[in-house]
Amino acid sequence: MQETKIAWTEYSSNPIHAYVGNKWGWMCVRKSAACNYCYAENQNMKWGNKLRYNLASVKKVNWVLRQKEIDSWAKAKPGKAFVEDMSDLHLEQIPEEMVLSVYKGFEKAPQIQFQVLTKRPERLLAFAEKHYPDGLPSNVWVGTTVESTAVKSRIDVLRKVKTNSGVHYLSCEPLMGPMGKMNLNGIQWVIVGGMSGPNWKKSPMDLAWARKIRDQCLNHKPPVAFFFKQSSARLPGREPKLDGKVWHQMPDGTAL
Ligand code: SF4
Repeated sequence: MQETKIAWTEYSSNPIHAYVGNKWGWMCVRKSAACNYCYAENQNMKWGNKLRYNLASVKKVNWVLRQKEIDSWAKAKPGKAFVEDMSDLHLEQIPEEMVLSVYKGFEKAPQIQFQVLTKRPERLLAFAEKHYPDGLPSNVWVGTTVESTAVKSRIDVLRKVKTNSGVHYLSCEPLMGPMGKMNLNGIQWVIVGGMSGPNWKKSPMDLAWARKIRDQCLNHKPPVAFFFKQSSARLPGREPKLDGKVWHQMPDGTAL
């Protein structure tokens, strides 16, 4: 577990590595437009196994569960942690027993608020129904990425995932178009952000899209916590305000 600059969490942890021969790294496969300029893939090309995130590459890797990393969670100080930020914990090709070992690790570290974010909520739902029919552990928040109306149906799937934390969240980042009216019933937190990094100008976010989501969160009954991460900008976090205000609401009422 390491400290991260991601504004809506404190730590990140990647308990699953993808090896090519003896070269460690990460691996994923693009799922939707939000993956177009994948940050994790760029990091993997620089520091990892130097494979692109695609179906051809994923066949070349051996998945390795980092049990020591999982065991370290139980002794870590309290905080929020984004798990598998260099991949997708519910990626089709990651062996199910490894994913289960990760969730068993969550159970042994109740002082950590784990944040799972997936572009594959249907797989998260199937996993939860099979292994946690009474609900996922109480220290797990579940989220899905909803960058455009093309993947809005992910919200309906996420809503069905039974949790004991009571937190289902959406990451509308990078927001790539107007979302229109959103059904936020059963959703406790929405993160909105524009694209950052070298390609940020290729898909600029209109602030009107972000305002529309914010207003739906604030007007929802009960209100949904709204977190504005940033406007589109080269550097992450460079433009953190929306209409002159920092919006860093958290679903548990804490401040980061
Ligand atoms: S799901 Fe995440 S890590 Fe995987 S390709 Fe898409 S953006 Fe990259």
